[in-house]
Amino acid sequence: DVTLRLSGLSKTYLPGTPGEIQVLRGADLELRAGEAVALVAPSGAGKSTLLHIAGLLDTPDTGEVEIAGQGAMGKGDRTRTAIRRRDVGFVYQFHHLLPEFTALENIILPQLANGTSEKAAQVRAMQLLDRVGVSARAEHRPAALSGGEQQRVAFCRALANKPRVLLADEPTGNLDPETSDQVFAALMALVRDEGLSALIATHNLDLAARMDRMLRLEGGVLRPAE
Ligand code: ADP
Ligand code: ADP
Repeated sequence: DVTLRLSGLSKTYLPGTPGEIQVLRGADLELRAGEAVALVAPSGAGKSTLLHIAGLLDTPDTGEVEIAGQGAMGKGDRTRTAIRRRDVGFVYQFHHLLPEFTALENIILPQLANGTSEKAAQVRAMQLLDRVGVSARAEHRPAALSGGEQQRVAFCRALANKPRVLLADEPTGNLDPETSDQVFAALMALVRDEGLSALIATHNLDLAARMDRMLRLEGGVLRPAE
């Protein structure tokens, strides 16, 4: 059961100019249901490009992206946006929470936008906050939270609408090593609880080793890493 399949992805930026750079050259990936995979690569290797294409935020020059069995290439923007909103959650190095809303509201809002009732959205938001250990912070705005708490809330928001696939780009990259460790553990607990498939880019090889397997992006292709 494959939740995310990337086939033959290629991507060149600034084609035909002196700045031309081929970032992907036939990248393939099969992410199975419930599997957490680490994506490791040097800076500039194309991790963000790969994650954005996988999450239907960017389009490859060639290749296909299938999410939960549905091919997304050659579909219109509206279809791609619908697939993304239903099936994909994103987490970044910075939390990108809405500053004027509380932690709880930040997790409720995407659910309301998705048609969930206010009551059900609140229950789900509190359950998620509880799972990552920040329910006592539910009524605080992001600025009143620590960096680790902000990221935990961002994880909850990413999972609020029960996506099938989580795409994370250096989710603990902005935290000190000890906090990073704890916050990563919270993320993995959520991923396991929710039965999610996760592709998590990280520079931290200790964290990468705690996932089910590791892939290296090098020379524009994905290969198993030791
Ligand atoms: P990573 O996330 O691994 O650091 P990126 O995917 O951000 O790598 O970038 C890969 C390469 O593509 C880098 O050399 C970067 O400068 C280049 N690049 C990324 N986005 C663009 C863009 N929109 N236009 C031109 N070059 C880009
Ligand atoms: P919204 O429902 O807020 O309009 P979208 O459907 O556009 O959101 O996007 C869904 C997810 O993609 C969100 O988690 C959002 O953070 C992320 N996202 C949207 N656009 C971008 C972008 N240009 N760069 C990075 N992430 C984005």
